Amino acid sequence: MQVVDKMNRLGVESAFEVLVRARALEAQGRSIIHLEIGEPDFPTPKHIVEAGKKALDDGFTKYGPTQGLPVLREAIAADVFASRGVKVGPEHVCVVPGAKPIMYFALMALVQEGDEVIFADPGFPIYESMIRYTGATPVGIPLLEDRGFSLDPNVLREKLSPRTKMVILNSPHNPTGGLIPEKDIAEIAGMLRDRDVMVLSDEIYRRIVYDGTPVSISSYPGMLERTIILDGFSKTYSMTGWRLGYGVMPGWLVNAINTLMVNSNSCTASFTQIAGVTALTGPQGCVDEMVAEFKRRRDAIVAGLNSVPGFRCPKPAGAFYAFANVEGTGMTSKAVADLLLQEAGVACLNGGGFGKHGEGYVRFSYVNSLANIQDAVERIKKLSARWT
Ligand code: PMP
Repeated sequence: MQVVDKMNRLGVESAFEVLVRARALEAQGRSIIHLEIGEPDFPTPKHIVEAGKKALDDGFTKYGPTQGLPVLREAIAADVFASRGVKVGPEHVCVVPGAKPIMYFALMALVQEGDEVIFADPGFPIYESMIRYTGATPVGIPLLEDRGFSLDPNVLREKLSPRTKMVILNSPHNPTGGLIPEKDIAEIAGMLRDRDVMVLSDEIYRRIVYDGTPVSISSYPGMLERTIILDGFSKTYSMTGWRLGYGVMPGWLVNAINTLMVNSNSCTASFTQIAGVTALTGPQGCVDEMVAEFKRRRDAIVAGLNSVPGFRCPKPAGAFYAFANVEGTGMTSKAVADLLLQEAGVACLNGGGFGKHGEGYVRFSYVNSLANIQDAVERIKKLSARWT
């Protein structure tokens, strides 16, 4: 027996692979500074953990509605209104285990062979993987360093075709930290408003931003009915392991997403959802403090990487990734990332794992203490004798 052919179209996320390699080196006694995985190093805020514990004691340990608990869907709809100014009801919200399933379900429900899906390259690897899995054709838009890694509306205009069924936006962006400016979002909205196209707007890093303000394309005239907002609790509330995310979408799509949910997960864990209500309605100071700390780290890592011979690192506007150009080393980005892990004990990711336009770059997740970030920079500087 063997797995079916279309399994070969699925890709992987290199962050999880590098994490395993880094842990194996640690098990041999090596000192490793982890800058590879995309999850905040902060614990889940205490009041959210307490709410989860109480929910377990209160018996939220059973199946719940496939679409998500009404109390959480109400809280999400209110939060989406407060943050984006778009009026949606709980009936537009689908709660799922982590934000990732919204990508999977939206693509499964909306595209097939013969369709084209536009996405940013470099970008979150699961987009292209899932597009290929559905049989649709991925159409990448290169993100360029000199545009702050922000998607160029003029290139989008050229790539749109009668076969385009979906456009995936992600701002702030993984792996570059780039932000799409408001005027570009407005231009993209104007371009898509009258087309038969859906936008998957991945807004998972919406709260983690230092310069500028992310705007949701859903807030432009005519766009709410063409947009699936993807968001969740993993990054904002440091809840990656709780597996709690959601999509906000037009009513006609909800049934299809629920059908995919009932065929795969049945429902999202109930106690997790109760903790999610507390996350959204409780004090938000924990988020502000985390973002302030990320900003200090961003400034430190960008300055540090720019002092490494052969490296050049633009300042990212959001998320918690520094995307450094390493072409000046004369090595491939994969060789640099491998060398950094093996010789310096600095775990990071080859930008090429995020698409062909990520070649020449290395992604550093600054989800580690300032002291460890400074240590990592010193280790890289010491190693740079190898390429200078
Ligand atoms: N979108 C992007 C751009 C991400 O970087 C991630 C996680 N790395 C996700 C979605 C998935 O989030 P979750 O862990 O909640 O499924």
